[in-house]
Amino acid sequence: MNTKVWKVDKFVDNLENNPQIVDAATLLIDNEVVALPTETVYGLGGNAESDVAVAKIFAAKGRPGDNPLIIHIAEKDQINSFVEDIPENAALLMDSFWPGPLTIIFKKIDGVLSELATAGLTTVAVRMPDHPVAHALLKKCGIPIAAPSANSSGKPSPTTAQHVMEDLQGKIAGIIDGGPTGVGVESTVIDCTEPIPVILRPGGITLEQLEEVVGEIKVDPALTNSESKPKAPGMKYRHYAPNAPLFLINGSQKFLQKHVLEKQQEGFRVGVLTTVENTNEYQADVILACGKRAELETVASSLYSVLREFNQAKVDVIYSEIFPNDGVGQAIMNRLQKAAGNKVISED
Ligand code: AMP
Ligand code: MG
Repeated sequence: MNTKVWKVDKFVDNLENNPQIVDAATLLIDNEVVALPTETVYGLGGNAESDVAVAKIFAAKGRPGDNPLIIHIAEKDQINSFVEDIPENAALLMDSFWPGPLTIIFKKIDGVLSELATAGLTTVAVRMPDHPVAHALLKKCGIPIAAPSANSSGKPSPTTAQHVMEDLQGKIAGIIDGGPTGVGVESTVIDCTEPIPVILRPGGITLEQLEEVVGEIKVDPALTNSESKPKAPGMKYRHYAPNAPLFLINGSQKFLQKHVLEKQQEGFRVGVLTTVENTNEYQADVILACGKRAELETVASSLYSVLREFNQAKVDVIYSEIFPNDGVGQAIMNRLQKAAGNKVISED
């Protein structure tokens, strides 16, 4: 399949009627799938009401069928056609964080959305993205759009159109190139079908921000205990993985360096994932800085592209520093742990 690439300037006026957006919207209405920039990562969109379109999303990504998709909308009132009711907590969160990187789980009205999109669940995950290109496209096509991240399943999520091309060129109808995304990690997923909302996946909106709006929040125990079953089906899968095995080092720089030297002595090409503050502290074959430790948002926004860079650099093994587990650090550590398949080496 020939994958069209549309370059779109997200700052121009009247984006909704930009010929490239109109072209992409027409393909979506025709049940083709199209990659689009959002403020978190690039998404792979398809008509959420169509089994044909949604099946194309799963096929292009190689995504397991039991992992439901997030439904994207341009206007809040679009949810009334497929959501049973809007609990008070959900309404407060929508007012505070939509548009933005927060996905809310609602009880669903049956028979409107493709059952494939919701993996046959009685609930549905919804988000209103805060990106001019995503907004214009969603508005132009006027239908709810199911969109997981636009990468091959298991790989790091795409934060540039180039990343999408690496994984999906030839498998999808088109890619809207709107430049690099901002937040860099996916949305926070919160279940509002229970009296006290539960975070199922940490992301762009932090626990602290959510608590400020609705008070008490629970966190899915599976996020901290790998023995319990996650409530978000997708959280049980390995994700975000670079090609080389990744180990998280819970210890000093000296301890990390010792592991690098050991592997080099065994003849391996070794990578280190650190931040700009610490790049000069290590000696290794490839040292990549992922933002600034002092500004964790910068770590989030460059994490996936750095994981992909290690693939290009063809290392055999990667050792990474870890990050504080609060604020956006929760999302960063969640993604790093998944990318590492939970391989953590602790100093004591
Ligand atoms: P992705 O599309 O890759 O950003 O992942 C979306 C995440 O939301 C996955 O972990 C899904 O399992 C999760 N999710 C989507 N719909 C639901 C739902 N109805 N209930 C619980 N988790 C969901
Ligand atoms: Mg994904």
